[in-house]
Amino acid sequence: MANKIDLHTHSVCSDGTLTPKELAREAARAGLCAAALTDHDTTEGIPEFSAECERIGIEPVPGIEIGTKYKRELHIVGLYAGGDEFDSVVSRLKNGRGERNRKMIKMLRDAGFDITENDITTHNDIESAGRVHIANALLEKGYVKTRDEAFEKYIAKGRPYYAERFSLTPEESVRFIKRCGGTAVWAHPAQAADTEAEMTEIALRLKAAGLDAMECLYSRYTDAETEMCMRTAKNAGLLMSGGSDFHGANKPDVKLGVVNGGYVPYEFLLKIKEKCNGAVS
Ligand code: AMP
Ligand code: ZN
Ligand code: FE
Ligand code: FE
Repeated sequence: MANKIDLHTHSVCSDGTLTPKELAREAARAGLCAAALTDHDTTEGIPEFSAECERIGIEPVPGIEIGTKYKRELHIVGLYAGGDEFDSVVSRLKNGRGERNRKMIKMLRDAGFDITENDITTHNDIESAGRVHIANALLEKGYVKTRDEAFEKYIAKGRPYYAERFSLTPEESVRFIKRCGGTAVWAHPAQAADTEAEMTEIALRLKAAGLDAMECLYSRYTDAETEMCMRTAKNAGLLMSGGSDFHGANKPDVKLGVVNGGYVPYEFLLKIKEKCNGAVS
């Protein structure tokens, strides 16, 4: 019985490599019964994604992923959020992303790298591009041997050519999604917290701001990380979410619908919808 879902994916509207329509078709091939599109700082792909999902009989979940102002990468996924305030904040986030991308390209050029805005906007405009595109350009031009090396050496948080962009704090992001009628999920929590104590502390703080769920099932987790997230969610009284963070060829090891330990069951989405007052797509 089709019970598999995926609540974290990216399309060409941010830094994935499938169009929203192709992503919906890939979800069907992967045997999913529901899927969320959660591009970084944009919902541009949602109408195309949802229409194709509906056409082929998959439940579409509209989503977005926001990178927040924090000492490490702390991402919040918002599902089902919408409305005027939502659109206006998302457009500020997009503008900030464009400015950040320009700044990082300038820093790299000033340091002697032969990289231009055109190199990161072949499929995208500057406001939808991301660090993955900068990593791809560094790879294509032979400055690094892998995308991960580009991040580790040059563009990860704390590395020489990383630049901050306009962003909300984790709490502000959660409150914003809740005000806009959405479900707030702490994405891949093990990226922001290494110890269980730190994860619990953040989970409780974000719960006080309105957080609904933690992404306990994730493609790149070890068993220990999965278990830590599950225990933390349980202790903090948060629901569980799960997703692959599929990016197509930009993260070739990640398969749509596949997470550490297997797949994400539809019950996760049912509980999310129940708690969030029957929010519908
Ligand atoms: P951006 O939203 O443009 O800042 O870029 C976020 C993307 O960069 C996400 O899709 C992450 O998967 C990727 N990313 C962030 N940090 C790293 C890292 N240290 N190594 C590889 N990919 C990373
Ligand atoms: Zn991404
Ligand atoms: Fe993320
Ligand atoms: Fe993501």
